Amino acid sequence: MHTNLKAFPSYAPGCWPEVDPTQWNDWKWQLKNRITSLAQLEKHLHLSPQERAGVLLSGHKLALAITPYFFNLIDRDDPNCPIRRQVIPLFEETQRSPNEMSDPCGEDSHMPVPGLVHRYPDRVLLLVTDRCASYCRYCTRSRVVSGAGEAELHTDFEAAFRYLEAHTEVRDVLISGGDPLLLSDDRLEAILRRLRSIPHLELLRIGSRVPIFLPQRITPELCQMLARYHPLWMSVHVNHPRELTLESRQALERLADHGVPLGNQSVLLAGVNDDLETMKALVQKLILCRVRPYYLYQLDLILGSSHLQVPVSKGIEIIEGLRGHTTGYAVPQYVIDAPGGGGKVPINPEYRVYQDDEKIVIRNYEGVTFEYPEKTGEAAPCQCGN
Ligand SMILES: *Cc1c(COP(=O)(O)O)cnc(C)c1O
Repeated sequence: MHTNLKAFPSYAPGCWPEVDPTQWNDWKWQLKNRITSLAQLEKHLHLSPQERAGVLLSGHKLALAITPYFFNLIDRDDPNCPIRRQVIPLFEETQRSPNEMSDPCGEDSHMPVPGLVHRYPDRVLLLVTDRCASYCRYCTRSRVVSGAGEAELHTDFEAAFRYLEAHTEVRDVLISGGDPLLLSDDRLEAILRRLRSIPHLELLRIGSRVPIFLPQRITPELCQMLARYHPLWMSVHVNHPRELTLESRQALERLADHGVPLGNQSVLLAGVNDDLETMKALVQKLILCRVRPYYLYQLDLILGSSHLQVPVSKGIEIIEGLRGHTTGYAVPQYVIDAPGGGGKVPINPEYRVYQDDEKIVIRNYEGVTFEYPEKTGEAAPCQCGN
């Protein structure tokens, strides 16, 4: 167990002592020097047979890529390191279990335009790239992300913008991918500017794991550009408290300083964050980085994910251990993205003990029960003071 889950250390330069800090802090250097091969991995890590087989097979499914910055977060003495499990392929990824799908959230069937998912009445998901700084082994979009899988993403930007112009009911655009922050400032700004030219679009959101995988990308210039397109919110993706380092905290604070409200979307993963102690440390650390825990996702039924699946009952138990026991802002909404395309469905512990037409019996976080009337009786004049 990690002794100090609440600290914000820097793990640099770690395996790259020869690199000078200017290069290290250059996000393009980080991308160019990503770990993408078995040979590079084995230079720094002793791999298990399952990992070695996983790496060799990853080229046909979801590419291997880890930024040097993020690679340093792996505890090389711990074969079960929660960081390692998220980014190093395992043989189990190539195994298929019943119920698993290549498109578990049914996105392909909800695309009116290639690259634009319109599932909810007033908001859409726009996929602007198929590349990420590092690849999460449980990626819900691995069918199109990284260039290694079965399909390719071909977003039709012009058709997407025209669709949004015609669909005045859309007021919120979630820009995702892949990771939008891998685009150049100019390319990203062109997309934001085009969206802002559509008057009925109120809210722009970016979904990104770059502040965690590649905090060097969060430059003052990027933040100043983003601040021209407010209201612009960002969802980041942190699963384990160890991912919140000195560098990622500074990146998140810089975004917050530029007026970007930050939310976090975690995925519940076996051996990573499927225990209350880890999750509590994570959500409390997020708050210190000015990030509000937004969603805790049950892992989508993606192909080759059964070794990372956690029972829903465990997820509910974790939420129950947070609600009331820590800051309300720190408690995320646990959701299942309904298989086949039903959207996100909230899953909550049950605090209603009993309910009928007259009353509701509830319990609090300590298990103490209380009664609240469902409807008050006829109001009558107060008899007070007479
Ligand atoms: C998650 C998601 C959204 C945004 O949902 P919120 O609950 O508003 O954050 C929008 N479209 C799609 C397809 C999504 O999967």
